[in-house]
Formats: sequence, structure tokens, C-alpha cells
Amino acid sequence: MKRIAIKNWPKLPNDLIPIAIDRNSVDYVQASCNCFITGKPKLILMARTENEAAASIKYASRVRKETGIDVPFSFRSGGHGISMASVNNDGIILDISKLKKVEIVDINKGLVKVQAGAVWGDVAEFLNRFHLVISSGDFGDTGVGGLSTSGGIGLLVRSFGLTIDHILAAKVITADGEIRSVDKDNEPDLFWAIRGGSSQIGLVTELLFQADKIEPENQYQCPITVQNIDFIIDDLESFVHKWGKWIDEAPLKITSNLMFTSFDNNQILVKMNNFWVGMPNQIANDAFKRASKLAIVKKYDQKVVDYGKLVKAPHNPHKGQQPVYVKNVLLDNFIPHLGTKISDIVHNQKTIGVELRSIGGYLNTVDANQTAWADRSAVIFIAFWSKSKNNKNINRIFDSLQKVDVGVYGAYSSDLSMKESYRIWPSETAQKLKNIMSIYDHKHLFNQGHYLYD
Ligand SMILES: Cc1cc2nc3c(=O)[nH]c(=O)nc-3n(C[C@H](O)[C@H](O)[C@H](O)COP(=O)(O)OP(=O)(O)OC[C@H]3O[C@@H](n4cnc5c(N)ncnc54)[C@H](O)[C@@H]3O)c2cc1C
Repeated sequence: MKRIAIKNWPKLPNDLIPIAIDRNSVDYVQASCNCFITGKPKLILMARTENEAAASIKYASRVRKETGIDVPFSFRSGGHGISMASVNNDGIILDISKLKKVEIVDINKGLVKVQAGAVWGDVAEFLNRFHLVISSGDFGDTGVGGLSTSGGIGLLVRSFGLTIDHILAAKVITADGEIRSVDKDNEPDLFWAIRGGSSQIGLVTELLFQADKIEPENQYQCPITVQNIDFIIDDLESFVHKWGKWIDEAPLKITSNLMFTSFDNNQILVKMNNFWVGMPNQIANDAFKRASKLAIVKKYDQKVVDYGKLVKAPHNPHKGQQPVYVKNVLLDNFIPHLGTKISDIVHNQKTIGVELRSIGGYLNTVDANQTAWADRSAVIFIAFWSKSKNNKNINRIFDSLQKVDVGVYGAYSSDLSMKESYRIWPSETAQKLKNIMSIYDHKHLFNQGHYLYD
């Protein structure tokens, strides 16, 4: 049997030894990475079952208690957290990527059980066969665990809302190592908190979703019509204004995402991706035609794709590729000079790119008290990607937008300051989350990533 002993830490229980990786293990380096950074943890536990995950949480709690040190304790599901908090230095990582089962519970009702270690591309591919979708993000390698506890702004968000808006029940392991089944009747506060409260509440291992149905047609099981247009823009103020008017008038079956990057001669390359739920019809074609007239088109493509292929997971191994620094805002209207503000950010040398997404629609119909994702008046999401590590300067670049926001989306923020946590969870939500934490995790075992603590 392998020997795992960490100096000054309590003995690892025998049942955790088979899933433990320490600094002497051959697979240590690979297991210490997420997709952005490489950590230097003392111990990695690769849980294969909920019981092993629960035992790992109990062990982490004992390590804190017996060493008297605030040893970092991270969860990792898909390892694509923009907070980059799923790895750490000198602490413990609990990885649940082996808990990745997806199963249909009731095909007629669209009920689907998903383990939190699955990645969204695999979930989409599986559900595609049954003409079902869960709108969940734009990249297939992102994990169910991190995204489903934070929100989930997907490619079909205007039609279907946030990913968390489709969660009917969950299994969550709290700091005492208890595996709890929660829903609107059983521990409803905990159920409320895991939908938007992020990793500070507990480890979510399984979710019951109500998926949406999409009518199959021709060879497509879950057809989505995709329009991709590239524009080269001189005057972003005017372009953003026109886009805003267009998407406002477009049916909710269309979601539109823009990516802005700096181009030659102070111009901006705009990549517009529009997604229509279903095969194209007259209404879709009219809306797409209007989109293509927003500016001079540089490149155009329109096609029908199965949703399962649209977000297919490439399963890239984690290599801690490179850190990024990402900030975002949620807005409830097109503020004055939005295009100019974005243009200034895009042209900053530290910027990789800026995303602008239309998110208004279904998510605005959900009551703000229903989940711990409270910014239900948001209609626009803007995210700014940068390579810099100097967070103070970077925050300054984004200040002009941060001043006018209605909130911040936690899963898309690398800013782990307490100030940012209070932007993610406005006062009433923050207070309720803190009350719940005082019951389930009063010692703040789960204090990696965004969390609330005064
Ligand atoms: C390329 C890329 C594209 C993205 N696109 C989108 C998008 O379109 N829409 C969108 O909404 N988001 C998007 N995101 C953000 C992404 O959803 C979040 O960063 C999310 O946290 C990733 O989840 P994960 O499980 O892969 O992350 P991990 O790195 O494993 O974890 C991230 C955080 O979540 C916590 N966590 C992980 N698993 C659990 C769990 N089971 N229970 C409780 N807490 C847990 C961790 O403690 C950590 O703090 C994107 C990210 C990337 C890198």
C-alpha cells in the first residue's frame, strides 16, 4: 500500500489512501493544475464516490483543527474556474472529476440527473439524443460543479435563462461531512444558497435538472441555427447602439454574443455569434438579415448545428496554461457612451478582449429571492479578459463600467477581494448567505474562491 504522510498533519484515514496524491506521487504535477495555473498543494484527493468526497471534507476539517492553521481547501470539478481557486499552495485539493454520471430520470418531464464532476460538453452531447438541452455556457470543458453553483450564462440564455434556473434538487456535502439532499421542501435555505452562492456553502455532488426540449428536424436532434459575422468597426459607440436596438427588438429565441478585439489603425474586430433555438424560419431569417446590416460585413457564416456539437468538450488536459485576469459587470440598460467605454478598454494594451452578451429575457422573469443570484434586472453582461497580474491597474481599466453596474457575475471574475464578493451578492443576499454559512460552515472551511466574511 502506498504511504502518504504529511508532516504535522493528522494521519490520513485508510479509505482515503487509494485516492491520495502527494508531492512524491508520479501524477502530482498534472493533478496540481487547473486550466489556468499550477498550484503546489500538499495533498490532492481524487474522490470516486460521494462517500469519499464526504470523508475528504471531514479530513480537511481535522487538518485545520489539529494544526490550528487555515490550511487552504479547494474543490475542483471541471478546473475551468476563472477565479482560479480550484488549486492552491500548501493545502488540499478535493477533485470530483470522476463523479461524472449523467442520466435521464423522466424523459417526458425532461428530468435529468447530473453529477457535478461532469463537463458541460459531455452533458450536452448526451442530452442531444433525447432532444433535451440545458443552457450552460459557451465552452464544453467547463465543469458542472463550478458553473452550476454560480449561475450559468449560456448560449441560449435569452430563451432558457440561467443554468441554476433549471435546478430542482441537489446533493450537497456540508462542512461537517454530511451528505444532504436538498430541494424546495428539504433544507430550502441550503437549496437556495447553492444556486448562485458559489463554493462557500458546500460541495455540490449531484443536481436534478429540468432540461428544455427542442424539436428534432431533418438529421438534427437538437437544432440550433448559428449566425457568425465578423465586422471591422471604426465607431464602436454607434455599432453598440445599433446592436442594442437590434437585440432589443429581436425575438427571445435569439441570443447574441459579441467579442471585441483590437485591430489595425485603432479599429476593432467584432465577432458576432447569434444563436436561434431551432431550424431557421422566416422570423429567424429576418432577424439575421437585420443583424448583417449593422455594419459592413467582413466575414459571414450561417449554419444549423446540433446543440451537443456546438459546445462539444475538447477534453484538453489541464496544464496550468497561463493565468488570466477577468472582470465583468451586469447592466440593466444601455448606459450612455457604452460603446466608447468598451472601445477604450479594448484599446488598452493589457486587454486580450472584451465580451458583450445579451442576457435579458427568461432570467428577468425569475424572482430575485428565488436563488442566490439576485441581479435579475440584468440584460447585458460585459466581461473583460486580460493577461496582466497587476490587478490594481487592471481594475482601474475597468472602472468606468464598474461604477455603473447592477452587479457582478461571480463565475466570471478573477477578483477575489471582499469588495468584489459584495458586488456579486448584494446586501440582502449577502446577509442571507452569511446566516446560512453560520449554520453549515461557521468555521469557514470553504473559504477559497469568492466568499463572504467580515
Ligand atoms: C473558456 C471559458 C469559457 C467560459 N464560458 C462561460 C460561459 O459561457 N458562461 C458561464 O456562465 N461561465 C463561463 N465560464 C466560467 C465558468 O463557468 C466558471 O469559471 C466555473 O466556475 C467553471 O467551473 P469548473 O467546475 O470548470 O471550475 P473549477 O475550477 O473546478 O472550480 C471553480 C470554482 O467553483 C468551485 N466549485 C467547483 N466545483 C464545485 C462543486 N462541485 N461544488 C461547489 N463548488 C464548486 C471551486 O471551489 C472553485 O472556486 C467560462 C470559463 C472559461 C475558462
